[in-house]
Formats: sequence, structure tokens, C-alpha cells
Amino acid sequence: MLLNPFTFHSPKSLSEAIKLCASLEDAKVQAGGTFLINNLKLLKRKGSKTPRHVISLRKVKDLQGISEKKDSLTIKAMTSMRDIIDSPLLAGNMGILKEIAQNIGTCAIRNMATVGGNLTCRYTWTEMPAVMVALEADLHFMGKDGKEETISAEKFFGNSAKTDGLLTQITVKKDPKALMAYRRVKKTPHVDIPLLSLLIKTTFEKDRFSKTRIGVNTGVDFAQCDKKLEDFLNQSSRSANTAQEALTRLSAAIYDTRASDYKKHMFRVSLKDAINELIGRK
Ligand SMILES: Cc1cc2nc3c(=O)[nH]c(=O)nc-3n(C[C@H](O)[C@H](O)[C@H](O)COP(=O)(O)OP(=O)(O)OC[C@H]3O[C@@H](n4cnc5c(N)ncnc54)[C@H](O)[C@@H]3O)c2cc1C
Repeated sequence: MLLNPFTFHSPKSLSEAIKLCASLEDAKVQAGGTFLINNLKLLKRKGSKTPRHVISLRKVKDLQGISEKKDSLTIKAMTSMRDIIDSPLLAGNMGILKEIAQNIGTCAIRNMATVGGNLTCRYTWTEMPAVMVALEADLHFMGKDGKEETISAEKFFGNSAKTDGLLTQITVKKDPKALMAYRRVKKTPHVDIPLLSLLIKTTFEKDRFSKTRIGVNTGVDFAQCDKKLEDFLNQSSRSANTAQEALTRLSAAIYDTRASDYKKHMFRVSLKDAINELIGRK
């Protein structure tokens, strides 16, 4: 299907991109384009209005790459899933990001889809939001007026991932002692929308769970922290029945809202499995 005509803009710097966002009416930003182009087709098919301008971020060098400081990692918004998989900087417990990226979509999608697009697309089922909530990431935006704003991933998704600005980068504090377990659930073995993304991050202190963070996304709401389960685990020890007991403390609002019996069952299997994985780690 041919798209409705639009003017394609390809800025080479962040300031140029911001100027275009500020000056063009009826414009859409394109990152990897894996959702955007499909959305333009859907809008055309429905007979709805389509944007007159597309601003591609592909050539904006300031938005690409992963870097690290002693205590933190920075992932620029245009970093693709492939870049994450290939990055030597994502070592130790941050290697979990490679595992997550490796399971997203297909090879072609991973080559194109960006972390920024995954976080800002406002689909409630993409996986990076729950991950960034669990990692206590900060999201950095630049507004159309050029002003920078930093907001925690938890707050951003708590506010339904609304933004008028450009996501420029994500920063994550390094926590080498933390252990992490990731689970995703999908219905079929094929490329399929995940029903659940779940990252548990914890530190064991004398065999007790501590500083536990649980980012969860059941595709029903935007990603959130499961505070109830965090509190329960932070009062629990590394024992054989902790995971089973945790299942009796689950928040119905998170795991049972608009969930079929299959989903409810799989959510519980995944949570138990992830907690047991952490308990079993040295
Ligand atoms: C077939 C298929 C399978 C998939 N499977 C999975 C999966 O298993 N798990 C998963 O998590 N995801 C999955 N995805 C989603 C994919 O990983 C991408 O995250 C998603 O398609 C959007 O990323 P993108 O870079 O292509 O963004 P685009 O499509 O370019 O943009 C998406 C939206 O985000 C906005 N946007 C993009 N970047 C910015 C920015 N920096 N600042 C502000 N707004 C911005 C755009 O304006 C647009 O509205 C799948 C997608 C497809 C098409």
C-alpha cells in the first residue's frame, strides 16, 4: 500500500531535530519506523488524517550509542535492539538487557527497532518500559523549546507515557551486587505480543531479599512497580517456600485485571519461576 504523501525530514543533529519539531505543524517523529510506518498505513486504511511531515531521527548522531561512567550507563534513544545485543558495555548484571533485546520481534525488527521507540510508542505491551521501571532508570527528554527534563521511568509510565518532547537518552545507575531475573509470557511460539514482561532486581543481604524492585507490564496498563510484592520479598529470606508464599500476596489489580485464566496462571508461573531463579543464584 502506498502511504499518503508527506515531507520527509532527515536532521543530522539534535538541535536541528528539535527545531523541526518546534516549527512543523502536523509532524511525527520516526525512530526505527517499525510501528510508525504501520500506523500510517492503518490511518490511511481507516480514512483518518495522516501527518504531513515525518522527522526521521536515524541520522542524528547525538542520539546514538551506549556509554558508561563509573556508576552509570547511558543508552541513547536511537540505540537499536541489535546495538544492545552487540554492546560489550552491557556486561555483568546489565547483560540482562541483551537477553531482553534478543527476544524482541524478529531479526529484521531488532535491527530497526530502537529503545526510544519502544519506550515512547505508548503501546502498553512493549517490554522495555517494565525493564526500565525495575532498573530505576531516568528518562531524559528535550522539549520543543530546547529545555531538558529528566523524569524517572516509574513516573513517566505512571503518567501514561505522555510527552511532547523527544526522548534523548536513558540513564541507569550501576548496581553490580544486584541480581536480576527476567520473564516474558506470550501465547504462541511465533512472533507475538507479550502478555507479560517482568523484571525482578534484588540484592541478598545475609540471605534476605533487600532493595527489591519489580517492574511489571501485563499489557493492560502502562508498566508499573509491584510495590506489594516488593514489600513482601524485602521481608522474606532466601527459603524454599518464599516463591510459593509470594503468590498468595499478589495484587489483583495488577495480575487479575482483564486477565483470562490462562494469563493469570502464566503470570503466577512466571513470578514463581523468577523468584526461585533468584533464590537459587549464588
Ligand atoms: C512485528 C513486530 C514485533 C514486535 N515484537 C516486540 C516484542 O516482542 N517485544 C517488544 O517489546 N516490542 C516488540 N515490538 C516493538 C518494537 O520493539 C519497537 O519498539 C517498536 O516497534 C517501536 O520502535 P521504533 O524504534 O521502530 O519506533 P517508531 O515506530 O519509529 O516510533 C514509534 C512511536 O514512538 C515515537 N518516538 C520514537 N522515538 C522517539 C523519541 N526518541 N522521542 C519521542 N518519541 C519517539 C514515534 O513518534 C512514534 O509515535 C515489535 C514490533 C513489531 C513491528
